Amino acid sequence: MDLPFLSEEIEALKEKGRYRFLRRVSGPQDAEIVIEGARRLNFSSNNYLGLANHPAVVSALSEHAGRYGVGSGASRLISGHMDVHAELEDAVAKFKRTEAALTFSAGYMANLGILSTLGGPDATIFSDELNHASIVDGCRLARARVEVYRHGDASHLEELLRRSRATRKVVVTDGVFSMDGDIAPLPGLVEAKERHGAILVVDDAHATGVLPPHGRGTADHFGLKGRVDVQMGTFSKALGTYGAYIGASRAMVDYFINKCRPFIFNTGLPPALAGATLAALGLLEKEPGIISSLWRNQAAFREEMVSRGRIVHSSTAIVPINVGGDRETMEVSKALFDRGVFVHGIRPPTVPEGTGRLRLTLMATHTREMIATAAARIDEALTEHGIRRVPKDGTWRGEWI
Ligand SMILES: *Cc1c(COP(=O)(O)O)cnc(C)c1O
Repeated sequence: MDLPFLSEEIEALKEKGRYRFLRRVSGPQDAEIVIEGARRLNFSSNNYLGLANHPAVVSALSEHAGRYGVGSGASRLISGHMDVHAELEDAVAKFKRTEAALTFSAGYMANLGILSTLGGPDATIFSDELNHASIVDGCRLARARVEVYRHGDASHLEELLRRSRATRKVVVTDGVFSMDGDIAPLPGLVEAKERHGAILVVDDAHATGVLPPHGRGTADHFGLKGRVDVQMGTFSKALGTYGAYIGASRAMVDYFINKCRPFIFNTGLPPALAGATLAALGLLEKEPGIISSLWRNQAAFREEMVSRGRIVHSSTAIVPINVGGDRETMEVSKALFDRGVFVHGIRPPTVPEGTGRLRLTLMATHTREMIATAAARIDEALTEHGIRRVPKDGTWRGEWI
């Protein structure tokens, strides 16, 4: 059958500079990767701590595959709930300092599940305007009214909560924003939600294993123990494996087991992955120094950029470097690739119109030399594309915000 919309829409994407395609990686997700057959410095991986190919995590995977096989065979409520799932959920609850935990097969699935379970026609969901796409899709599935508050703006949230007549109010935010690298103002959000009796959901995909002091997530980072109702996070980023979790009260977890369709109607996490994740969590607790290495690298990159007169807006391991136009963004990314540095360009609809950017992620496994090389190459590529440095006339203080 001839389906002209396929090629027409793809052509339109190409004309706008928004065509996406896959790049092939040969080998593990390391500080250096072989991508499209070429060895490149890797500044676009969420493998923040190097756990995705850590020998202890890899051997836990094969050991658990030997013991349980590969697939979990059924949804968790049928016959797919194995010892290792229970052990992992206990370990996550302990790590998160929550009463209970529940795992999901992916972060995307967890967010669909959380919002569709807590939403419904009587609920209003209050969502930060820069929340991750999986939260946006969860809001759609929730059949609830959705009100979007200005990015990171607790007083705007407060105003919307005050005006709302909904019987159930759910506030949802990324803990660390995935495309901007800034941290949600959680103390303000918690105060607002407590004043208005709302439920607070925090997505710790980029906070788990990353935010100091322990990598336990955004609530722990701000000392807000017990004041976030649902802490969601992924295993797929700093923990280096796959899958996701929520940490919450026992009552909340029990409710999810009974009501959450993306949990109920989805096959359980493969047991070997649950075992590998247990090993990754164990490493994180035993060697918290790897988190410090990540932060040292982040500070080193910032210094390299600031010394070249470049503003770096981020306080985490995700560093956006603004370019602007879609085509320009991809051109700068390509110029860097040709110079040996892989940094992915991010365009709409992932980010708002006109805010195309390079999105760097630092890893604990980057060496100082790799970081210095990347900063030098980035500065060159930006200069070549007419993206100017900040004038050295004292009008800018070089702050890392
Ligand atoms: C990556 C990510 C997800 C999705 O997690 P997966 O396990 O990859 O499905 C959800 N939320 C945020 C903020 C993310 O960055």
